[in-house]
Amino acid sequence: MANFKSILKRKKTNTDALKKRIESQKKSKYDDDRKWSYELDKKGMASAVLRFLPASSKDIDYEIAKDENLDQDEIPFWTSKFEHQFKHNGKWFNSVCPTTFGDDCPVCTYNSDAIAGTGLEFTDLPDSSPVKQGVRNRARKLKYFANVLVVKDPKNPHNEGKVFVLEYPKTIQGYIEAKLFPEYDDDESIDVSDLFTGCNFKLKVYKNKANEVKYDRCEWDSPSSISEDEKELEKIWNSEFCLNDFTGDAVKPDQAEMEKQLNRVLGQGKADKAVKSEPKDQENVPDAPEAENAPEGDSDDDDFMNSLLE
Ligand SMILES: [Zn+2]
Repeated sequence: MANFKSILKRKKTNTDALKKRIESQKKSKYDDDRKWSYELDKKGMASAVLRFLPASSKDIDYEIAKDENLDQDEIPFWTSKFEHQFKHNGKWFNSVCPTTFGDDCPVCTYNSDAIAGTGLEFTDLPDSSPVKQGVRNRARKLKYFANVLVVKDPKNPHNEGKVFVLEYPKTIQGYIEAKLFPEYDDDESIDVSDLFTGCNFKLKVYKNKANEVKYDRCEWDSPSSISEDEKELEKIWNSEFCLNDFTGDAVKPDQAEMEKQLNRVLGQGKADKAVKSEPKDQENVPDAPEAENAPEGDSDDDDFMNSLLE
């Protein structure tokens, strides 16, 4: 039972327990056990073999609950969301972009207003323009999610044979769609997630001279069955995660919170005027990741251009 005496008796062990708990809470926020990611070596390279898996039963249920006319086969094996993650004057802004759900977004609106304020089109602004750089920095980024079976993970072999969620950039989605919609008529369309006729993905990542993470060396293996054993396949399918826990209604951002966070990061009063008069509430400001935890993304100029067109 909680009492004041136990607080008075607090010794270093208690502090250690508290530190441990806070560290584990921080860890769970940014290092999600459900997710798999590559680890870059000293040369800035990483490789692995992954197999994208069909839509999970939970995601099928989620989608059909939203639209009962949907057929199970029509449900993609991936989901996606837009995110804003940027640093301004040492402060991080981190939020799902409400345009994911067809709603207005304070950051996207702030970007559009910033461009409108120059009286020029975005493309006419020189790269050296602080407005252009700011808009680029704050632009929403598209993130994809899929269940994958880790076939080979040289850095962490204990992951092999297990199912994880892969968060991946548009470049990798390009590889998936290139198989589904081949450019040449005589190339067969392949659903890479098919358990029997899909393909393993050879992930090959490197950092270029500009320190950007690149995915252009990735490739597909020839089509193969994951296993001939139906029980094994069922086991794999049953261990898939619900992608909508990462991208669905569960992560819909609170607009008022977003505006507060934007004011805190950009400076009070710079975002929506509606929240200008509200007192600063540091307690409720969502935590942002530390600089070193910032995700590596590929630079997708299309994303920020799209964000302006909303
Ligand atoms: Zn947005």
